[in-house]
Amino acid sequence: SNQVTVVGAGLAGSEAAWQIARQGVKVRLYEMRPVVKTAAHISGNFAELVCSNSLRGASLSNAVGLLKEEMRRLDSVIMASADKTCVPAGGALAVDRDLFSQEVTERVTGHPMIEVVREEIGEIPSDGIVVIATGPLTSLSLSRSIANLTGEEYLYFYDAAAPIVHKESIDFDKVYIASRYDKGEAAYINCPMTEKEFDRFYEALIAAEAAPLKEFEKEVYFEGCMPIEVMAKRGRQTLLFGPMKPVGLPDPRTGKIPFAVVQLRQDNAAATLYNIVGFQTHLKWGEQARVFRMIPGLEKAEFARFGVMHRNTYINSPRVLKQTYQLQSRETLFFAGQITGVEGYVESAAAGLIAGINAGRVARGLDPLVFPRDTAIGALAYYITHAAPDNFQPMNATFGLLPSLGEKIRDKRLKNEKISERALASLTEFMDTSLDQSVRAR
Ligand code: FAD
Repeated sequence: SNQVTVVGAGLAGSEAAWQIARQGVKVRLYEMRPVVKTAAHISGNFAELVCSNSLRGASLSNAVGLLKEEMRRLDSVIMASADKTCVPAGGALAVDRDLFSQEVTERVTGHPMIEVVREEIGEIPSDGIVVIATGPLTSLSLSRSIANLTGEEYLYFYDAAAPIVHKESIDFDKVYIASRYDKGEAAYINCPMTEKEFDRFYEALIAAEAAPLKEFEKEVYFEGCMPIEVMAKRGRQTLLFGPMKPVGLPDPRTGKIPFAVVQLRQDNAAATLYNIVGFQTHLKWGEQARVFRMIPGLEKAEFARFGVMHRNTYINSPRVLKQTYQLQSRETLFFAGQITGVEGYVESAAAGLIAGINAGRVARGLDPLVFPRDTAIGALAYYITHAAPDNFQPMNATFGLLPSLGEKIRDKRLKNEKISERALASLTEFMDTSLDQSVRAR
């Protein structure tokens, strides 16, 4: 049968190659390291973890824990390698980073259907079945080639994201729904502040601790997206005339315009997630939680993801990608990993897993598959291809992406476990009915 080319042997590319090879389809896997380096990787190993050695939460009351369990059932090489090289880490799955990436390298390189080529790919191959999995630090020439294909405006080089909170954690007694000047449907959640509340918040914001900037990330501010804390340091007025301006937003309960307003905008179609408008930030995550919970209504906010600002090459998946990880305009071209706008090691590998299964299927003359939306892996694929395209930001696995349960369960842990139970049942059924024998996990 047809051969598939995979570019990049990171978390996503290694997984994709594995999933293609298990179908009996030949893979040529290109990895530029160690010949060409990136600004973050230090070795020549596959699936190198560039920062933390944690693959995050292990339990099924945690969305990334569910995602990992789904991947295990789908015979993920990343999960098998992680489970084999794990180190004690409480409720998380952490690994010995060297043993882990060595393990992935050995398994992938050792697969008889996979040929590894240590070479940089400068341009998207013009024909054949191809998976691009070159990650947030995709080399420049390939980035240019991707931009040519997707259109310049649909390829991003930086991720400057505002925090996203779960709607159910917002205190609706303190906020109100309105759009500025009453325009259109009332769409925003508005958190009003008195002058005293603003002053307290302001002082905390300018004193909060930012995450250190990597050398290769320093350019980020020149892209026209300034972190909220940097803006704040220019003076109170910058905020009051910027992201916190109250004009046109009278509080319906008083009829008065508050001193300042923080707005939240709907982030997913199910309206379970809201982002804080204009609050892209480089503060440490703990500091974000502390300072942003000073905003009236957000005292108990739970964050689906914190704000980040870093170098991150990714495409506007809602505009250009299908839920099967195929490019809309060229169905033999797949994207996988962080470059599709998923965020995180496990999420990147999960994207590689679906892209790999589907690339292998296309090579075998079969239809690609859409994974069920009530699984974590399927929900992530759905999110990145259906999120609001104008404000598309990379996303972690979180329960907010899965359809809610029919019943109301108070206890959060219990509720999450039920969602996981439903997801795993759905995955089993999907594997039985849609995956043929060669792809079902043993
Ligand atoms: P990668 O793992 O980066 O794999 C891409 C591969 O493609 C690399 O091996 C690269 O050498 C290769 N490549 C690139 N261009 C070419 C080319 N033209 N030809 C051939 N090969 C090429 N996520 C977390 O969950 N936890 C963290 O702590 C974390 N920290 C991060 C820190 C930094 C500095 C960055 C940039 C990201 C971090 N991430 C983290 C986000 C993300 O999970 C990782 O970047 C993850 O490695 C992404 O997986 P990937 O497979 O998409 O890309």
